[in-house]
Amino acid sequence: MRHFILPTSLLAAIWLLLPLPAQSAPCLLVTLTGTMSGPALRNGVAGAGTLVRYGEDSADCGTLKLQFDAGRGTELRLSQLDVEPGQIDAVFLTHMHSDHTEGLVDLLLARWNWSSGGAALDVVCSSDAPSPLGFTLSCGKFVAHIGDAFVQSGEIAQRVSEDKRRLAGGPAELVHLITFEPTDEPQVIWSKGGVRVSAIRSTHIAGHASYRVDTPAGSVVIGGDASNDSAAPPRPTSTSAQVEKLAQGAEVIVHSTMHPVMGPERDSGMPPPVFYRQSLAPDLGAMAQRVGARYLMLTHLAPQVGATHHGPYKVPGGALTEADYRAAAEAGGFTGTTIVGSDLATLRLPAK
Ligand SMILES: [Zn+2]
Repeated sequence: MRHFILPTSLLAAIWLLLPLPAQSAPCLLVTLTGTMSGPALRNGVAGAGTLVRYGEDSADCGTLKLQFDAGRGTELRLSQLDVEPGQIDAVFLTHMHSDHTEGLVDLLLARWNWSSGGAALDVVCSSDAPSPLGFTLSCGKFVAHIGDAFVQSGEIAQRVSEDKRRLAGGPAELVHLITFEPTDEPQVIWSKGGVRVSAIRSTHIAGHASYRVDTPAGSVVIGGDASNDSAAPPRPTSTSAQVEKLAQGAEVIVHSTMHPVMGPERDSGMPPPVFYRQSLAPDLGAMAQRVGARYLMLTHLAPQVGATHHGPYKVPGGALTEADYRAAAEAGGFTGTTIVGSDLATLRLPAK
């Protein structure tokens, strides 16, 4: 093969004649795909999940699509955003509670049905976490067996017979599992195209982890159901010291929230350990203020706004309003913007 070497001056002249690329304007979208707390059901609210999209303004900030937790109804919410199951780049799970994971079954089945020929889905979560109580929480097993009921029913084989592009092993074959050992220091566990995701150990149940996404348009922390390492008072705060470390300098904190009204000194009936293993809204406001966050997105609300009961537990004093939650975060000293989560609430950085 012959090579033609152009003189540098000619190259410079050609470069000058080329049209300038459009001004790059990276942006970030944080969308709550579900805001329900725990396995309880209420009025169609979806289970916990947060979609983080990042990209150029010209691509609707959506070149990269990362899903954090996938509770009940996640796929329905994603469909309302016109996000197809095959377009999700990675799913990150904070812990193995069904209100954070059951939507992954639906998401993977949909991806298996229509995108079996596409890329495997990165599923990122903790490595097996043995509990001192004698059981082990295993994201690896959850994912390995995620399609078993549909394999056993014969549906997988039946659908493969109709379309040979579908993977014979069912949705589990479409997963690229990435596990990590959560530690007390942030560690980068996933990255792509200038976007980095870090994880840190946090307390809720064994294997719980919290995440931080760093992008050129800003950083967002997904606390999950994190709470303080001390299981109950006396403790300085109900929030996690590790999440606070992870959140230093982040613009946005998305966090599961318990309202103090459900506490054992009232008559909600909620068992104290269930109450104590979540972060309280005022403490989240205080933490968000300490780390300098501009936005606090309260999600996984216990109780839901407008609800007189949270599952079997009553809301003492009657239903809470959005203003009650905002006031609680402000009572903790937060001077930024509190977003009281509802399904599909979206925050854009930079703001438009
Ligand atoms: Zn939860």
